[in-house]
Order: sequence, then structure tokens, then C-alpha cells
Amino acid sequence: MKIDLSGKVALVTGGSRGIGRAIALALAEAGAVVTVNYKESESMANGVVQEIESKGGRALAYRADVGSSEKVAAMVDGILSRFGNLDILVNNAGIIRDLLLLQMEERDWLGVLRTNLDGVYHCSRSAAKGMVLRRWGRIINLSSIAATNAGKGQSNYAASKGAINAFTRSLACELGPKGVTVNAIAPGLIETDMTQKIFPYADGFVRDRIALRRPGSPEDVAPLAVFLASDGAGYITGQVITVDGGII
Ligand code: NAP
Repeated sequence: MKIDLSGKVALVTGGSRGIGRAIALALAEAGAVVTVNYKESESMANGVVQEIESKGGRALAYRADVGSSEKVAAMVDGILSRFGNLDILVNNAGIIRDLLLLQMEERDWLGVLRTNLDGVYHCSRSAAKGMVLRRWGRIINLSSIAATNAGKGQSNYAASKGAINAFTRSLACELGPKGVTVNAIAPGLIETDMTQKIFPYADGFVRDRIALRRPGSPEDVAPLAVFLASDGAGYITGQVITVDGGII
């Protein structure tokens, strides 16, 4: 099945690097106009835009901290005035600050929740208004297997992702009657900047716990986002779908 997203406008938060970059490129490949949001990595975000444009697509890089309601509202207004509408929101921006609880300062706790969870709230709220009016929309949240698989040192991150799962199911109930689907993707161990410190110690985990015997790449995650954004996924909502190579 070839997925055609031409005529759709997408926003990928944290689209400058890693999983967000792969999703931005894949949505553009399927024909969507893509806004590549970032916080710091301006040249990388511009690189994603150039890659999209070099293949004949349309894209825009936009700096905004997703933890700021004002910045997010300005970004969504900017997208609406530039492209007319916003049909697909991928809430991908995320950070880790892994620490055992007794070493975890309040700023580490709040910092992770601000980006990973408040960011999803701000972006969903700003984007959903137009989707509801147009009676079509897709919200795709990046969760994690950390929401359900216990691990030391990630209480802040796991809490943020568990909350995203609950947010996804609740918002799906609200927006379903308006033609907007809300789903989450829960990746396992994916090779990105976020996980680079883990990889020197990950051989045993990959060998013993991942059925496919390899870590994932951002390109292993992106096709599901494209599918969830498509008309073909119109009867799927409120789901958290795992992409982890079969972690046992
Ligand atoms: P990454 O390589 O570290 O990239 C993070 C992205 O988020 C960057 O584009 C970064 O922008 C952006 N970002 C961070 N804080 C932001 C903020 N406040 N406002 C706007 N953008 C911000 O991460 P990744 O591994 O691709 O992860 C992407 C998502 O997948 C995250 O939600 C993560 O929790 C989730 N996930 C990842 C894995 C994994 O194994 N990698 C597993 C499960 C879930 P800048 O470049 O400007 O800093």
C-alpha cells in the first residue's frame, strides 16, 4: 500500500535529530509539507529541511521550546499563516536526565516532565483546535517501553512516558468524535544521541532480550508514524504501539 500524504501539513517536534528527523523525512517522502521543530540544533534542522527540499518536498525549520506554551502557540500560528492548516502533529521532542531518585534534584524531575509531558500538552492543545474545526487530524505521541518496563534511574522519564500513554487514551476519547485520532508509538532501544551512552553496555541486553538481536534505528520507527498519519489508519485510535524488535 503506497501512502499518500500530499495536501497534508505536518509538525514534527524535535525533528532535527534521531527519531524525529527520520519521521520528518518519511512524512515528506509520503508527500506531506513538514515543519521541523527544534530547540538548539539549528544547522541540523536546516539540514533536514534541505534534504526534503532537494527531493522536491516543502519544509520549514522552526525553533521553539515545546515546554513553553507561548513559543508553541507562536509556532502553530506561524505554521497556519505559512501553510494554511496543520493536519498531523508528531509529539516527538524528548529528553532524558537519568538519575537514581536520591540523586535526582527537583530540576531534573521538572525538566524532564516539562519537555516530555508539558510539551505534548502544549502542542496537542494548539494543534487540535484547527483539526477539530476541519474534522480531520492525527496526533502521534512518542512514548517509550520505559513506561511499562521497569528500569533503575529513569523514574522521571518513565513517569513522563506513562503519562503520555494515559494522555493518549484520554485525548483519543475526546477527539474521536471530531475525526481526530490520537495514538502513541513506544520504541525500544533505538540508536540515537539519546542512547549513545548506553550502547557500550548494551551487548548482553541486545543478545539476550531483543528477539531480532539488534537495536533499532530511527528508520525502523518512522514507517509506523507515516502509517498512523494516513487515511488507512483512520480506525485506529487510543493505542500505544510498541516498536522494539521484540523485547522479551
Ligand atoms: P534525540 O536524538 O536526543 O533527539 C531529541 C530531539 O528532541 C532533538 O531534535 C531535540 O532538539 C529535541 N528537543 C529536546 N528538547 C526539546 C524542547 N524543549 N523543545 C523542542 N525540541 C526539543 O532523541 P531520540 O532518541 O530521537 O528520541 C525521540 C523521542 O523518542 C523522544 O520522545 C524519546 O523519549 C523517544 N524514545 C527514544 C528511544 C530511543 O531509544 N532513542 C526509545 C524510546 C522512546 P535539538 O536538536 O534542538 O536539541
